This record gives sequence, C-alpha cells and structure tokens, in this order.
Amino acid sequence: MESHVSQRIAILPETITNKIAAGEVVERPASVIKELLENSLDAGATDISVEIAAGGRRLIRITDNGHGMSREDALLSLERHATSKIRTDSDLDGILTLGFRGEALPSIASVSRFRLATREAGNLEGTEIVVEGGRVRDVKACGMAPGTVITVEQLFFNTPARLKFLRSAETETGHVGDTVARVAVSRPDVALSLVSDGRELLRVQRSELRRRMAQAVGREAAGGLHEVAGSEGGITVNGFISGPSVVRSATSAMFTYINGRFVRDKVVQHAIMQAYRGVIDRGRYPVLALFIELPPGEVDVNVHPTKHEVRFRRQATVHDAIQTALEEVLRRSPWLTHRPEPEPAATAMPPTGQAYRERIAAAAQASLALPGRPARTSYPTSYAFADNKGAVQAAAALPPAASVSVREPAEPFQPDPVTAESMGYFSSLAIIGQFHGEYILCQSGAELVIIDQHAASERVAYQRLRRQFLAGGVESQRLLFPETLEFTFSEAALVVRFRDDLARIGFELEPFGGATVIASALPRVAAGNDGIRLVRDIVAELAALGTSAAFNDSIDGLLSRIACHSVVRGFHPLDSRQINELLQAMDETDFAASCPHGRPVSHTITLGELEKIFKRT
Ligand code: ADP
Ligand code: MG
Repeated sequence: MESHVSQRIAILPETITNKIAAGEVVERPASVIKELLENSLDAGATDISVEIAAGGRRLIRITDNGHGMSREDALLSLERHATSKIRTDSDLDGILTLGFRGEALPSIASVSRFRLATREAGNLEGTEIVVEGGRVRDVKACGMAPGTVITVEQLFFNTPARLKFLRSAETETGHVGDTVARVAVSRPDVALSLVSDGRELLRVQRSELRRRMAQAVGREAAGGLHEVAGSEGGITVNGFISGPSVVRSATSAMFTYINGRFVRDKVVQHAIMQAYRGVIDRGRYPVLALFIELPPGEVDVNVHPTKHEVRFRRQATVHDAIQTALEEVLRRSPWLTHRPEPEPAATAMPPTGQAYRERIAAAAQASLALPGRPARTSYPTSYAFADNKGAVQAAAALPPAASVSVREPAEPFQPDPVTAESMGYFSSLAIIGQFHGEYILCQSGAELVIIDQHAASERVAYQRLRRQFLAGGVESQRLLFPETLEFTFSEAALVVRFRDDLARIGFELEPFGGATVIASALPRVAAGNDGIRLVRDIVAELAALGTSAAFNDSIDGLLSRIACHSVVRGFHPLDSRQINELLQAMDETDFAASCPHGRPVSHTITLGELEKIFKRT
C-alpha cells in the first residue's frame, strides 16, 4: 500500500538560488562593476583598473592590487553567504565595509562565464578558478602579481530574459562610466582607470578631492566649488559644493555618500535642496560631492541588496545637519552679500533697487515715445505662413533696435514680409505702450488689450520651431567658438545615441572623449541666450525620457523648451519696431494649436469693465 505523504516542497540547489539572488544584485554590467569595485576597495586596493568590451556585455575585467585571497578563501568566496566582513549578528549594526552580504561573487558567477584569479602578497603563486553559469569548471595555480583579477564574460548568457533588457553598448558604457566616476569621487586616494573597447574613458592618479572633482565634473565647474565642513549631533558633513554660478539641469552632478557609500537618498537630496532655496532657480541643481559620516548603528544600509537606499534612525537630525552645513557656506559666500550682475541662473529673478528704478524710468520714457497706430476694423480669418528664409533676411536688413536692454534674443521677433491683406488682429491693434518692461498695452476699439510679451514671444518661437522642424529641421547657428561641456558618462551616451535627432532640432553635439561633449551649433532662436544651459536642459530631458520612449513622441516638449530659452525673461523694454514685429508674428501664430506651456498671451479689458471700476456707470 502506497503512503499518502506527498512532498511538494524541495530546497533549491545553489545554482538556482544564486541565479535568483543575481536577479536582485546584478541588473546590468554597471551593477557588476559596482560590486567588484566595492570588493577591491574593501580589500584595501590603491590601484584598480576596469576594462569592458561591448558595454560590458562581452567582457568585464577588474584588476586590483588589494590583499588578495588564499586558495581556500577564493573557493569559499564563491559560496553564497560567504564573507570575510562580518561574523556575528551584532556586526550587522556596525558595518564599516562596503560589502557584507556575501552575495555578489556567487551571483555574478551564476549568470556569466567567470574567472577569479587572486594572489596574497605572501604567496608565491596565485589561484585561478573558472566558473560557468555557477558551476566550478577548473581550479589551478597561476602566476600573477599580488591582488585580484576578476573576468566576467558573456554576462547573462544563461538568463535570456535579463539579456533582453540590456541597452545599447553606448548606454551600458555610460552607466559603467557613471559607476566608476562615483567611486573615483569617493576615493581620491585610489588610482582608477576605465577602458572601453580599447579606448580610455577615465584615468585618475591618486590625489585629493578637489582635483578629483575637477576630473569628474570638469575643471570649470570645480573652480566654482566651496568647501563644506560641518558637524552636528555626531553627524559630520564634508565635501565641496557649488554656488549659483555652477548649476545643472539634473541631479547627475550631485555626488552624495553616506559612510563612503554612494547613495541617492530622498532625505539627503531634500536637505540639500532646502539649503539652496533662493540661491539657485527651481529646476536647477548644484554640483557637489558630499560625504556624510555617522555612527554605523545610526544608519541601516541593509534595505536593498544594491545598497543604494538607506534608512536613518534619526532622519530629522541627519536632514538638519546637512542643511545647516550647506547653509553655513552658502550664507557667507560672496554672491549673497554684494550681489554681482546676476548669473545666467538668476536671470529669471526680478532686478531690485536702484538699477531697477533706473530701468523702469528708461522704459517709461521709451513707452511715451511710441507712436500710436490707427485701429483697423476688418480682420482676415486666415493667414498664410511666409517662408522663413525671407523672414531671416528681412530681420537682417532692419537697423539695430535702439533698446535699453542688455541682453537681446539672437534674433528678435522676425517679421515676415507683410502685405496689406495679411494684416491680422494683433497687427491691427493701436499700440499704447509698454508696461513694466513685460507687457504691451494696446487699444482695439473700446477694448484695452494687454499682451504678455514673454508668453507671446515664446508661443511665436514655438510655432516657428515647429514649422521648421516639419519642413526638415530646426534652423541652427554655428558657434564662433565651440563650447565644451562636461556631462556624466550616461548623459554623454545619450548625446551619442540621439545625435541625429538632436541635429534635427538644431543642435550639433559631438562626443569628445570621456564624458566631454562639444557643442558647435545651437538652434538659431536660442543661440545667443545662454544656449549652453539649453543644451543641459535638453540632455536632462532626454535622460528623463527613459529608455523606451521615442524622441519623436516628446518633440513638442523639446521644441517648447527651446522656445522657452529663446525669450528674454523679466524686464525687457521693446521699441516700437520690436513691438510691431511681435504683433505681426503673433498674427502668423496659431494660438489654438497645442502648446505644452499653455499660458494665456493676451487679456482684454472692455471699456464697460473700466467704467465699472471707476464707478461711472
Ligand atoms: P561581500 O563583499 O558582501 O563579503 P562578495 O561575494 O562580494 O561578498 O565577496 C565575498 C568575499 O570574497 C569577500 O568577503 C572577500 O573576503 C572576498 N573578496 C571578494 N573580492 C575580493 C577582492 N577583490 N580582493 C580580495 N578579496 C575579495
Ligand atoms: Mg562584495
């Protein structure tokens, strides 16, 4: 008689459990490199070289000069939960190493063709272990320098689902570059190099933090950094932070570390942005390297296998310590006491004080001098778009505007050739003048028409860009002196990936080794208006697209971003010719068409409404 005991449950063999663990730790080549770099640092390495091929998919090799392993340890290191970094439960509360889970090596080895070669300085020879998909194939002695060499080939060869999620070689290389850069910033005392497909992307000698920062964020940005050294409630905050003159369009140049571990933590991020409130514009982010140290028992790094997130025991204290340390520096820095001419980042802020009053006075004069024009009564219902080349020539033929403004758009409101029939509603308005350097006041019969000149020019520019784009490409303007921009590696990879698309919206951007990009042409409408900031904004927008969204799907957003940059913000006096040009251009603009920044451009107050205000009725 058969027994009725059924056994459905079985303990999985280690080859499978390792593969499952790999699912959490090893997402892409960059995560392999992060784990291996952490191991090298934990082993006391002072010189680490990273080599990849095909974005790390074909090959990853990390060579370090750390303390290496004996043959016994090397074999053990490939077992799950085998670690030299903690021994007891209580050790978990005081982790000072980067690793401790004992999961990385077995996980990586289970999803690749893996080779570990390692030698302790005291041993005459090293040990080489070959593993394929988690199975040890060979163990032998080998000659090598003291230290460890780990080679990972054909990552995910036995996990096709993961392989499918890998991006192009450029994109993966970008992520690898970012990972290496984060380590480089955290450990200036370690020499590092990264070679991709035989090309050197990064090589840094041992040095100190300020020099390292220059290598990671560019010399120019590093020149504008200020030292932070704060301590509060057992929490120390050290590093370098930028003032308002060095900003980015994304958080990518914010290097934040907790006890030496790179983190992207909401509490930390929030504290930083609080400190920068009022110093930099919204939507701008500082460049910084910040090292937050606190007693290991105060922070739990064991939240997620990748250890990118942490949990603080005293969240508010950590937040305040960071905010205070930064404010300390930001408050005593020069830009806040004797405000220099506003940095590009500050152009959106209204001017204050004497200069402002002078500009208002000048504008009032300019407005008074404006001639009025007779109002028309017949409005055509459809307007033909004039061809744009003619418009450019027309603009070029006009005399320079006599304006008190310092900054002007590269191409002030291009008028299209106007004939009597094309006189539209806005052209037909009688101009009264300009108010506050920001609004145009007009009269139309018994109506007062107020036009927001920024909103209007932005819409005009947007429609013009759209037309150009649909006709083959946004007009661009070559820069006399090409500009060099420092990005992160993954941002530079975006520039490569979208190079042709970017050309269609007027940008000529070329990668120039490492994470440097050269801008040689910009959309004409925005070229004169801090175009470099526009480049950063556009690249940040591409990064936010994620990996799957097509460029074309977000074209409206990108064009409106360019349009937004083509407009001079704030107080901007216009002379009568410029106002006429804007009104004409507005007639050629379809204001009903969808525009991502759907602000109203004009507002009408009837005579009746005015009479009510003045209690005449
Ligand atoms: P963890 O780092 O969490 O301990 P790993 O799987 O990453 O787990 O590594 C297992 C062990 O292998 C480590 O604890 C360490 O003793 C050893 N090890 C790994 N990489 C190196 C290296 N590059 N040099 C010396 N020892 C290493
Ligand atoms: Mg490790």
